[in-house]
Amino acid sequence: MSATKYQTGRHFLQIPGPSNVPDRVLRAIDHPTIDHRGPVFVQMTERIFDGLAKVFNCSGPVLIYPGSGSGGWEASLVNILSAGDSVLMVETGHFSTVWKNIAVKLGLDVDYIPGDWRHGVDTALIEERLKQDTGNTIKAVAIVHNETSTGCTTDIGLIRKTLDNANHPALLLVDAISSIGATDYQHDDWRVDVTIGGSQKGLMLPPGLAFNAVSEKARAASKSATLARSYWDWEHVIAANKEGSYPYTPATNLLYGLDEALDMLFEEGLDNVYARHTRLAKATRCAVDAWGLENLCIDPAEYSDSLTTVLMPEGFDADEFRNEVLERFDMSLGMGLGKIRAKVFRIGHLGWFNELMLAGTLCGVEMGLGVAGVPFNKGGVVAAMDFISETSKDVPE
Ligand SMILES: *Cc1c(COP(=O)(O)O)cnc(C)c1O
Repeated sequence: MSATKYQTGRHFLQIPGPSNVPDRVLRAIDHPTIDHRGPVFVQMTERIFDGLAKVFNCSGPVLIYPGSGSGGWEASLVNILSAGDSVLMVETGHFSTVWKNIAVKLGLDVDYIPGDWRHGVDTALIEERLKQDTGNTIKAVAIVHNETSTGCTTDIGLIRKTLDNANHPALLLVDAISSIGATDYQHDDWRVDVTIGGSQKGLMLPPGLAFNAVSEKARAASKSATLARSYWDWEHVIAANKEGSYPYTPATNLLYGLDEALDMLFEEGLDNVYARHTRLAKATRCAVDAWGLENLCIDPAEYSDSLTTVLMPEGFDADEFRNEVLERFDMSLGMGLGKIRAKVFRIGHLGWFNELMLAGTLCGVEMGLGVAGVPFNKGGVVAAMDFISETSKDVPE
């Protein structure tokens, strides 16, 4: 379906989002659309909000918008800020850059700390900026938790400590679009003010839903924020959600899917879901190491559980390699985004995924490296298989 010629069997969708949608979720979506103001819909809405509270670990409202993750970014900014407000952001990669560009377009004054796209956020730089800001002009600090372009993460608990150490009242905004449902996330404990999520990564749904988990402090700030907002305005959504409905027509069938996906996460157990992601990410890195290829992420403490970004050897085009893999083995790998285009490829290992899907994915990469004539050492798949078999006793029955 995705290569240009006819392919038999299942397509391997190993980009880091959209991720593979489970058959159960597809079947849930495939139900007749119902009245979004009727009693069955209200019951489902309540169930979904209970589930989202557990995944985000958020006691406040979690809003669901029909929209892409980018809509969630815009919502996070327009609800709490006014034109000219200072926002501190850090260049972790392509996604932090796109979010920054939205903030600039909205008329915010962004201090964008440069980065090398191979690390998460350097908290020392944040602490320095906040301590210099004695007049508290910085209204918000906006950080990407799992930078999906690079495979580098940032410890949000540490970011919280940094704000506390600097004794700074700025609101904390976190893009968790590719970590929610894949990695433990603690909105309340880390005192995040707005967490942005999306449907098509760890939550195992098709694209089309964006989330904002919101703190009391953020809601209070929204009272005096003056950026224009209508569709994204939190309060009219929260008011309708209290009645189990929405101030507009919600994406009914995607919500069926969300209801089912949340059930699946709880059936597996969130701790098991996160442990599975950690283990399969490690297995992936075993393969990359054995191939003699380089992980774009430099610091092992910052390795992502959702994806691995692999540097192509000098002189080889990652997009040509990805195209060979697609045309010959019907697998989509993630492309290099922004300034690392054609220099890297990304292996998505998040969402609805297991050992043999990983083994197939790594086989496709290893065979593709051979076909594309990329210099590498054989044995990456075997290294990953060894790791998987050695650690399978750790997985709960
Ligand atoms: C996918 C992603 C986005 C963008 O989401 P869209 O649905 O494409 O708008 C933003 N941030 C991160 C970290 C992502 O992984």
